[in-house]
Amino acid sequence: MEDCLSVARIGCIAVPARIDLVAAERVSASVDRLLAVAPGEGSVVPVRRWLRAVERLLPVAGEYDRQRLLSARAGILPLAVPSDGSSAESVAPGEPDRRGEMPVTDAVLAAEIYEQLGEPLAAATNYAAAADTAAGEGRVAVALDTAVRALVALGGAVRERPDAERDLTAEAHLAVRLGGLCRQLIDYPRALHFYELALEALHAQTEHDSCVPGALTATAELLLAQAVELDWEDPERARLLDRAERAAHRLSTGPGSDLFHRLHGPRLLADVLCARGRPARAWSLLPGVLRAAADLDAAPSVRGAVHLSVGRCLAELGSDDAVADLDRAVALLEAGTPGTPPSAELFTALRLRSLARQRAGDVQGALDDARRLADLLWARHRRHVPAFMEQVWSRAGAEEERRDLEERTEALMASAEQDPLTGLANRRALTRFCGDLLPGGEVSLVLIDVDHFKAVNDRFGHGVGDAVLKALADLLTRSVRTLDVVARWGGEEFLIALPGGTGRMGADAAARVCCRVRAHPWRDLAEGLEVTVSAGVASGPVAELDVVLDRADAALYAAKHDGRNRSVVW
Ligand code: GH3
Ligand code: MG
Ligand code: MG
Repeated sequence: MEDCLSVARIGCIAVPARIDLVAAERVSASVDRLLAVAPGEGSVVPVRRWLRAVERLLPVAGEYDRQRLLSARAGILPLAVPSDGSSAESVAPGEPDRRGEMPVTDAVLAAEIYEQLGEPLAAATNYAAAADTAAGEGRVAVALDTAVRALVALGGAVRERPDAERDLTAEAHLAVRLGGLCRQLIDYPRALHFYELALEALHAQTEHDSCVPGALTATAELLLAQAVELDWEDPERARLLDRAERAAHRLSTGPGSDLFHRLHGPRLLADVLCARGRPARAWSLLPGVLRAAADLDAAPSVRGAVHLSVGRCLAELGSDDAVADLDRAVALLEAGTPGTPPSAELFTALRLRSLARQRAGDVQGALDDARRLADLLWARHRRHVPAFMEQVWSRAGAEEERRDLEERTEALMASAEQDPLTGLANRRALTRFCGDLLPGGEVSLVLIDVDHFKAVNDRFGHGVGDAVLKALADLLTRSVRTLDVVARWGGEEFLIALPGGTGRMGADAAARVCCRVRAHPWRDLAEGLEVTVSAGVASGPVAELDVVLDRADAALYAAKHDGRNRSVVW
């Protein structure tokens, strides 16, 4: 029985009464063994085999073992991406079969585990991976939700780590993920910003990170996409194309596999040349690119991108052959990612083919493409808008709650510092106010006590007594400067604090108050009512507030002793 309990505890979940101890121990031992041979330095176990073993163990493992497995898998999954691509599946133009390797739920689970382990940067990277993947699958609401979690975790990571302990590589991987996400949501400027951050961080570390070629490809593509939206004369267009050319050149010559050297690099250089109005020079690069696509057995979406470049170049050259390449591009890009929303490349291919068909005299074909494009755009719009609206409304709800809380807190604070009868500051508020004054400064205190107030109550009743206190509060407030604070110090005692006040200033205020109280038409409140006050004044350093207060009290006592209805300065 004891054994059963300990297993149940390890499992941290409700365990059936009759637990197969032998089986449970076997599972835990298998998890230990599997974790010991996790792929990485010093392990010869192939990544895929290891992942399959994890997959088999997950359903039978207890919660504790599940967490260990998921946490390890979270670290291993990026290794499953072939080294010719980048760890960010969406960076290189479409490698559809890689997306499924890290489902959104896995990434979210891994992120949550990293959060529990106190590793916010790893958590943020996994949330961003989830967001990127979800956006790639067209699940915009999930993408936005996980993106927000990524940013929150990132905020935690940045706040908690001193600069010297920052993990630039991990930050770069996160930036690539966020770049991929923004790109999918067509936020190109922000996507570009993230990719550039990633490249900068990796440049400071090592050029050989697996992220670099993918990030460079994405950077060049995004710069091109933005450049071609601008007018030919716009100097910004030339600047963007210069930057795109540099990225494409680095791809052709820098780190990375043949896929980048022979295919993406020259393909993007050709695109830049076309965008500069030099299709003939672009054309000289493209046969090599087509050969590379065949040699490397590139994925359909990559071949689609290649035919798109060829079609674009031919169209620029005024050749009707452009249509044939654009046909291939459309077919490949459509087939490239079954079940996922159409890529930006497909939109471009359809738009270019519509123009090319029109030029070739195929008006019906041009119209078909235009209609198809409009339908796809409309479908995308309908998919995106509700998700964005959902976010807006849920944020609005959260914002309302926050404001409500703030208002209630303010009200509570106010009631805790306000005298309910007179509306004046209470003792707590005045103490806080004096505590907030510059410690090196001076303060003048005027302590005021109503004369024979007990007799007022006795003769006119408590109602009149209260009305007197309220009228006094009003009168005192109107007798001091804006920056002075009047507080109800006790029953029928008031205290005025005059910041920066000298003895003279305090004495004047006290005399003024006594005089005004005396002159006030108290008879309006009750026939025969007369009210006077006595005041004690003292001044001194803010830092010695208690001493100043004692002196004001002593001065007040002297005023009472001297016959009341007067002020005494200590
Ligand atoms: P002195 O001139 O020596 O200060 O005489 P006093 O009668 O003003 O002093 P004492 O301390 O004997 O009495 C203060 C009275 O103030 C007693 C108490 O009932 C009254 N008092 C305190 N707080 C309130 C209040 O909120 N409302 C009313 N109506 N009376 C109050
Ligand atoms: Mg009193
Ligand atoms: Mg009194």
